[in-house]
Amino acid sequence: MTELVHDTAALSMALAAARRAGKRIAFVPTMGALHDGHFALVDEAKRVSDFVVVSVFVNPLQFGPNEDFSRYPRTLESDFAGCKARGVAIVFAPDADTMYPEGHATTVDVAGLTDVLEGVHRPGHFRGVATVVAKLFAMIGPCTAIFGRKDYQQLLVIKRMTRDLSLPVDVVGMPTIREPSGLALSSRNRYLSDFDRARALAIVTGLRAAQRAFSAGERDATRLVRLAREPIEKSFDSIDYVEIVHADSLHALRGSVGERTLIAVAAKIGQTRLIDNTVLGEDKITA
Ligand code: AMP
Repeated sequence: MTELVHDTAALSMALAAARRAGKRIAFVPTMGALHDGHFALVDEAKRVSDFVVVSVFVNPLQFGPNEDFSRYPRTLESDFAGCKARGVAIVFAPDADTMYPEGHATTVDVAGLTDVLEGVHRPGHFRGVATVVAKLFAMIGPCTAIFGRKDYQQLLVIKRMTRDLSLPVDVVGMPTIREPSGLALSSRNRYLSDFDRARALAIVTGLRAAQRAFSAGERDATRLVRLAREPIEKSFDSIDYVEIVHADSLHALRGSVGERTLIAVAAKIGQTRLIDNTVLGEDKITA
């Protein structure tokens, strides 16, 4: 049976019963508009636990004033159906007042890792993400929490927060799920017309060009970035960044790159902002 829960009292009750029954709890935080990328995380959660909680919460704290909070797709009914079909135990869909009651004043900041990439272009974004995830971890108390590498920097931020706050949660990162074309699945793809979807593939073209060059021995950071950037520049309306960084520290790389090299991209088609990334020599984007 899958329970749809909106308030914390009902959540606590359902979780207490699961704990009494000796269940191991795994947690998948989402903002809803669930797709096969999210469901791959749910499948992993099912594999490692016997009680899966999925949260669906469009977190106002992680959106900037000019971002897409109000138009973000909200599809709770079909999200619930998808979770039910996969044997999720609880779908936790709180409203903003439940998560941030009047007078809420405490936030979580992860220094350093959040100063680059998304952190530069979305000020306050990771404060919102870290705060909501810390609160959800506290409410749910999972053994394991599953995140996607699609949001690569987010995964590192959450891992660091969990370690630094000594939260007893094993944070697991899963590979990016893509359409057959290579386009990374994203709730924001719903904003794209068919024509724009085709334009969006320039990210895949760019990342694959860099991957191919890296496999063929190219190690020059500037040339690798240029290869990734060129097709995106042609197809997208604007680019926030195409950067090459160390995959663990996220420090910018110059000159010759080694192993553990990440290329991360954020670019816009109209108002729609897409992100993607690849660890060179490790991930394969097939199309
Ligand atoms: P979101 O609902 O966009 O906040 O994403 C919730 C979780 O799903 C995050 O951990 C994302 O990294 C993950 N996710 C989103 N898209 C994908 C994808 N295409 N493949 C794998 N994980 C994903």
